[in-house]
Amino acid sequence: MSESWRESCQQAANVLRRARRAVAFTGAGISVPSGIPDFRSKGGLWSKYDPVEVASLQAMTSNPAGVWRFLVDTAIMFHPARPNSAHIALAELERKGYIAGVLTQNIDGLHQQAGSETVVEYHGGWDNWYCRRCYKGWDHSRAHELTPGELPVRCECGGLIRPPVVFFGEGIPQDALRESDRLLSGTDVLLIVGTSGEVTPANTLPRRVKNAGGTVIEINLGRTWYEGVSDIRVDASAERALPVLYDLVVS
Ligand SMILES: [Zn+2]
Repeated sequence: MSESWRESCQQAANVLRRARRAVAFTGAGISVPSGIPDFRSKGGLWSKYDPVEVASLQAMTSNPAGVWRFLVDTAIMFHPARPNSAHIALAELERKGYIAGVLTQNIDGLHQQAGSETVVEYHGGWDNWYCRRCYKGWDHSRAHELTPGELPVRCECGGLIRPPVVFFGEGIPQDALRESDRLLSGTDVLLIVGTSGEVTPANTLPRRVKNAGGTVIEINLGRTWYEGVSDIRVDASAERALPVLYDLVVS
């Protein structure tokens, strides 16, 4: 039975080839082989930090230095990370017209680095840092080099600098909601990759496609919250399965 995920890949390829409009929906699992552990996993940043103390609306006021220690640690982790075979396969599927774009929960920017053109960042992204008070932009390209004595970073107006990622206690950005609605509109195939469906409200998006009569394909290693939603399940890691799926789709 060890080859059964390859059979599921073949089914998935058949569905993708016939899709009117397919979209990929990705999460932390796709970036793990790029050296970015899932924040929620053992060894991830949430095993070192309490998210409420370093990544919440409240923490930006009560613990700005702690927020910034966390941001610098994240920057150190993101800085050397490069797209892996799964990101690249999705970019190629888009370039060849088999998927309309990627809706991601990740903030690491690796889909864009891989060459994906249409990327909707549901939880915000790591570019375009700004001052919370006056919204002036701040160049974050050296954030990974900052020393503890330089933290927290403030704007000349005194406001705290932050990245445009969704912190705990914040809602999904209006533009992300609008863009994801636009991307999912008319989508009849959703390709879930590397996300087990624990995070709300993002985890409700596959059900939306399913309820509209669409087909849901899932590429995830192990059991997930999408068991009742997925029509085709490829039980394999993204970096193994997506290049195989790509070859089957284009062959
Ligand atoms: Zn400012």
